[in-house]
Amino acid sequence: MLIVYNPATGEEIGRVAKHTSTEVKAAIDRTCAAFAEWSGKLAKERSDILRRWHDAVKADKEAFAELLCRENGKCLSEARGEIDYGLGFIEWYAEEAKRVYGDTIPTHDRNANVMVTKEAIGPVAAITPWNFPFMMITRKVATALAAGCTMVIKPAEDTPLTALKLLDYARKAGIEAGVLEVVVGDPKEIGLILTGDPRIHKISFTGSTGVGKLLAAQCAASIKKMTLELGGNAPFIVFADANLDEAVKGLVSAKLRNSGQVCISPNRIFVQHSILEAFIERVKAAVADIEVDQGLREGFVVGPLVNQLGFDKVVRLVEDAKAAGANVLMGGKPHAKGGLFYEPTLLTGLQDDSPLATEEIFGPVFALYSFKDEEEVIARANQTEFGLVAYAYTSALGRSLRLSRQLEAGMVILNSGSVGTASVPFGGIKQSGYGREGSYYGIEEYVHVKYVLMAGAQF
Ligand code: ADP
Repeated sequence: MLIVYNPATGEEIGRVAKHTSTEVKAAIDRTCAAFAEWSGKLAKERSDILRRWHDAVKADKEAFAELLCRENGKCLSEARGEIDYGLGFIEWYAEEAKRVYGDTIPTHDRNANVMVTKEAIGPVAAITPWNFPFMMITRKVATALAAGCTMVIKPAEDTPLTALKLLDYARKAGIEAGVLEVVVGDPKEIGLILTGDPRIHKISFTGSTGVGKLLAAQCAASIKKMTLELGGNAPFIVFADANLDEAVKGLVSAKLRNSGQVCISPNRIFVQHSILEAFIERVKAAVADIEVDQGLREGFVVGPLVNQLGFDKVVRLVEDAKAAGANVLMGGKPHAKGGLFYEPTLLTGLQDDSPLATEEIFGPVFALYSFKDEEEVIARANQTEFGLVAYAYTSALGRSLRLSRQLEAGMVILNSGSVGTASVPFGGIKQSGYGREGSYYGIEEYVHVKYVLMAGAQF
């Protein structure tokens, strides 16, 4: 039995029976059996069904937001934001389903026609994390279903309730058994079954780099296609020529979203030396007004960390930094509320090779580093095996262009702290993974390209 807790209060909020390996295999069987009919539907029919799912969930947005808040710990306003974000993917891919176009290619043979079609790659599977229990699911499911794939999804153990509620609404909208299946249980066991089944043609995974590597190794046996959205170590660079108020606003919202438990959270904040003091004062002032609390209330609050493991990691990283001589300018310890709450923390005096700079923090910790010039900061920003997102604030156009070319990341965000929406390609390079989610690039991950040469006919 999987017991689900509210991380803000520690209270039990639900129990979910774990699927046995036989039940997981039966879910895969249903997914495979449903593929021919689902992929054979007209694009417009799939689009209409996705649209019905979107509308049904939207009509009950508040119920989803409350569950999300209780299950994950993020505050109501953020939960509502996540639901809008996640619904955006269903809406987008309901449209995109109708636009999976092929090509005709000028022939190399007078007696032949050459065309390229795109076909759903088959039954697929997804494994999702707990930090966006709603959006991670809609982003993967809507894309797969739009392309004509059927999908088995394994949500994170901390947050299965949102996934099951989404499944319930999917069924009511006409997404039948087999077209979408949710399995919960032992992650390792389910991972082995999903990756080991040759009938599953792709795995889409969002989570840690360690588990991503393991799954990639498991998928190698059957050359299974993958989309991997793994860890990040985002640099956030503020130049002296930036609009400081905007930079502080962008930083605070990007850093405190979901209490810092986001793969695109600014992990290393580089501030140009000449403005460091002024910048610190503004960040402190902005964060001082923000409350730490459980999230079932109006207004933005910093919520708890999701579980003891995540909490202990933040404690360890900050304690290590303190022991190594970091200056604690704000916070630096568990919050007086107790439980899994941690104080928003601001640290300076850190080394580039400290664990705080090399590991994904996943907590409300602003780790500030100063730099002298552009060349130096680009080199330091790129000094990581990760490459998900890089942020920078500057008012210089030429510098913006240089940054966009030279920062090693799948996403470069200039003069904004906001990254995601359904219409853009989300994803990383280096050990942050491969493949893209969102936009028309996202659906390409779920189709294969078929070249057809048709000779011998009377053209
Ligand atoms: P996080 O540190 O964010 O929890 P994980 O990579 O551990 O990241 O978890 C992301 C998802 O991967 C979750 O759904 C989790 O259950 C799943 N997972 C963890 N270990 C494995 C594994 N060995 N095989 C398959 N899935 C796994």
